Amino acid sequence: MSAATRMPVVFVSHGAPDALLKSPGVVRCWEAIGRALPTPTAILAVSAHWETRQPTASLAGAPATLHDFSGFSPALTRMQYPAPGAPALAERAAQLLGQADIVVDLHPNRGLDHGAWVPLKAMWPLANLPVTQLSVVRQSPAAHFAIGQALAPLRAEGVLILASGAITHNFNWLDWQTPETVTPHPQALAFADWVTARLEASEVTQLLDYRRAPYGAAAHPSEEHLLPLFVAMGAGDDDKPTHHRPPFAYGGLAMDAYVWP
Ligand code: ZN
Repeated sequence: MSAATRMPVVFVSHGAPDALLKSPGVVRCWEAIGRALPTPTAILAVSAHWETRQPTASLAGAPATLHDFSGFSPALTRMQYPAPGAPALAERAAQLLGQADIVVDLHPNRGLDHGAWVPLKAMWPLANLPVTQLSVVRQSPAAHFAIGQALAPLRAEGVLILASGAITHNFNWLDWQTPETVTPHPQALAFADWVTARLEASEVTQLLDYRRAPYGAAAHPSEEHLLPLFVAMGAGDDDKPTHHRPPFAYGGLAMDAYVWP
């Protein structure tokens, strides 16, 4: 790879699986983020929908589009994202994590789950950039921050780290009649505002301890959807991210995105 542009780091909230069909404001946001980015050499997608014991990267040469959900429109189940895989990037990510004394695994053929392909389809609809996925693990926010720090050198190699999760993920806060709303659940809004303010002030310690923040534990009954944010923060170094706030999905899912320059 020659003198590649140092790539930004992106976190997106991927929402419910049907964002591409039901959330035009979110799609416009993802399209705009994709247009504003330099073209990466490859993409490392860190999705909340792949949880393993140890960080695991996929060697898939032609990753399948995984429809890892049920109860949504057949139009969504028919969608494909036939991007080429990025096995060399998976190996490189494993090497960097190993150098940071993080034990890693490689998976022979794991495909792209909806946390990865749904936002990618809006950002790069041609599906012509190589993509691999890295899992999240049942470990702390701090462990994920360290994973992001270890992966930061990929940015200088032209790789886009795309972390995909959710800023709020409490299904009790959802109103399934309202795919997009500008009047979200008040606790979801409060926690999303708290996260944004902490990110803008670079208050990493407070963010890692988010469960003590107002509505932090309530926003994440289980933790996996916020873990990709900590990977992005670690890879983002001390840069302050740009904040995007498309309409909340189903009233309770904050769809905030952040781009570290
Ligand atoms: Zn999800």
